[in-house]
Amino acid sequence: MSTSNELTDAQLLQFSRQIMLPQIDIEGQQKLINASVLVLGAGGLGCPALLYLATAGIGEIVIVDPDIVDQSNMQRQILYTVEDIGLYKADVAEQKLRQFGTNVQITTLAKIPNEQQLLTLVTNADIVLDGTDNFAARYKHNEACLKAKTALISGAVIRFEGQLTTFDHSQADSPCYHCLYPSAMDEQLNCSENGVLGPVAGIVGTMMATEAIKMLLGIGETLTGKLMLLDALRMDWRSVRLRKDSSCPVCSKE
Ligand SMILES: [Zn+2]
Repeated sequence: MSTSNELTDAQLLQFSRQIMLPQIDIEGQQKLINASVLVLGAGGLGCPALLYLATAGIGEIVIVDPDIVDQSNMQRQILYTVEDIGLYKADVAEQKLRQFGTNVQITTLAKIPNEQQLLTLVTNADIVLDGTDNFAARYKHNEACLKAKTALISGAVIRFEGQLTTFDHSQADSPCYHCLYPSAMDEQLNCSENGVLGPVAGIVGTMMATEAIKMLLGIGETLTGKLMLLDALRMDWRSVRLRKDSSCPVCSKE
């Protein structure tokens, strides 16, 4: 990861449209270049999030996904094309993200990390994005982020619906994923069983990237304590308060 404080001419040009934003400026761009983001799941949410994180100039991205690309992925997993079928998503994603010329340092893990590996990955990251599609994985990611006090941006999509929130584990009063889902819902509640509209995954994935960039820069407001719910059929966004559950066995144990 680069820690120099000078942007090159090429970087000044490449990121000029966001450096222009007074909330970002050169100092903010430098923060992004020095940042490390862990993306868990390089699917319908992870692909658009990864694209925008890489093109924003995030210096280090770690991609974790145990799956290989198959034909049904391309409807929404926009980093992959037919030539990639049969290859590991994490490896293909790495290769695609390198083509933007941002000198991003990418590490991939094409398997499910064990508990210790996950904790190390989460501890080394400034921020974690969870775009996986099952409760077992999400619970593990939540616990690791809580232990490491790393902020977790969590997105989910199904059918025409999406949701998005942030668990900022550096804040003592932040709820956690287990507060939101005290018990695993039907494991079949994923898009392989229920279907999903591709651009709905794109909307939520790009919002996850937006939230990550803002949090890395320390600008605006985070989604901590706020759950955003999208109904794309009605093009309606709702947000509900999400409070820490004082009896949550994960984040409220003394
Ligand atoms: Zn909790």
